[in-house]
Amino acid sequence: MVTDKATTKGSCLCGESTYSFTGQPAATGTCHCLSCRKLTGTTSATCFLVPRPNFEFTPNAPIKTVTVTHEVGISMTISFCSNCGSPMCKEADTEEFRGLAIVFAGTVDNADALLEQPPNMELWTKYRLPYVAPIKTAKQCEQFA
Ligand SMILES: [Zn+2]
Ligand SMILES: [Zn+2]
Repeated sequence: MVTDKATTKGSCLCGESTYSFTGQPAATGTCHCLSCRKLTGTTSATCFLVPRPNFEFTPNAPIKTVTVTHEVGISMTISFCSNCGSPMCKEADTEEFRGLAIVFAGTVDNADALLEQPPNMELWTKYRLPYVAPIKTAKQCEQFA
């Protein structure tokens, strides 16, 4: 239940694209899938799963959206800052993710949010690199579940 209506703000690397969401994320996930590697340029992605109605980009933020197909065939729409290229959030049209803005956790402006909402699920552990330790607080999922 979302009882805390606090607002979390976030931004891209250049600062031109900003967003906010209200309340707590429904979940926090760290994903090791091959699509997250490519889209973030690193080996995993930690994201806040925020109910879509609670999330909004600031009006006139220079967001570019790109729709791609995940390696398992689902359609994902990624929102990037068109000025600096930072990935900001993604959405996917599947049962698990429908209705969620999947916000890249590193874009939040207040780093305390990262401490308050540690990952409670770790996805695509089959691709987790051997030098990365499992997250003890997170449910381990070989794929999306
Ligand atoms: Zn930017
Ligand atoms: Zn992923």
